[in-house]
Amino acid sequence: MSTILFEDINVKYDKTEQYALKNLNLTIQAGQIVSLIGPSGCGKSTTLNLASGLLTPTSGAVKINDSEITGPGLDRGVVFQNYSLFPWMTVLENITFALKQKSKEPKEVITKKAIQILEKVGLDEKAQKSFPSALSGGMQQRVAIARMFILDAPVFLMDEPFSAVDEITRNQLQDLLLNLWEEGETKKTVLVVTHNIDEAIFLSDRVVVLHDGQIQEDLAIPFKRPRN
Ligand code: ADP
Ligand code: ADP
Repeated sequence: MSTILFEDINVKYDKTEQYALKNLNLTIQAGQIVSLIGPSGCGKSTTLNLASGLLTPTSGAVKINDSEITGPGLDRGVVFQNYSLFPWMTVLENITFALKQKSKEPKEVITKKAIQILEKVGLDEKAQKSFPSALSGGMQQRVAIARMFILDAPVFLMDEPFSAVDEITRNQLQDLLLNLWEEGETKKTVLVVTHNIDEAIFLSDRVVVLHDGQIQEDLAIPFKRPRN
């Protein structure tokens, strides 16, 4: 299990006067699902990008289990808003690529796992053989989610993961995430950026509200809301 620690974080992008994050201190406990919400520009994606290691803070440190992160790593699965699939690989290849590097399991075992997870997110055989460009935005988002699931990292980082899908699909994918989280032998630590307050409350144990690069509210969600 992994704890994510943001310690005295300040972020200022080149050429901007304003700080995107100001004196941010935040601990995401191991096994927690935490949503980050707030208006556009408040610093949600910046916070997530720090945790993924794609962005280095101007000052302060981001730590996972007390060690400072220095870049992206296979200990953190990510889903970006823009899917970031490899266009030259089929869906199946996109899914198995990272795992083939990380795992010593035979190729066939990895492929079988990938097919299972793709079926879980609702992508049939035809879609699995397609290239990302042949799929709708919502289908590409499912691929990105499947890729994160199969990597089975202790930390999941998601930026508006379910924003480009219809409501029925969104509900399915939310349930899938929660099932996976509940079934897992070791609880995933999940940080999810969303604009959708209902989604934040449904998914998470805790909702952190950002405003102008600072934490405005930090709310525990005492019980999971049943789906209507
Ligand atoms: P979101 O609100 O979901 O974070 P944004 O529209 O704010 O999406 O940002 C989309 C992308 O544009 C991000 O990669 C972000 O880093 C970049 N971006 C946002 N604001 C600026 C800016 N002022 N200058 C340059 N890039 C920006
Ligand atoms: P959110 O995800 O909540 O919309 P962001 O983290 O994307 O917010 O952005 C926080 C602030 O940093 C905003 O003022 C945004 O314009 C700015 N920003 C984000 N990315 C960049 C970038 N690459 N270059 C310059 N400014 C950026």
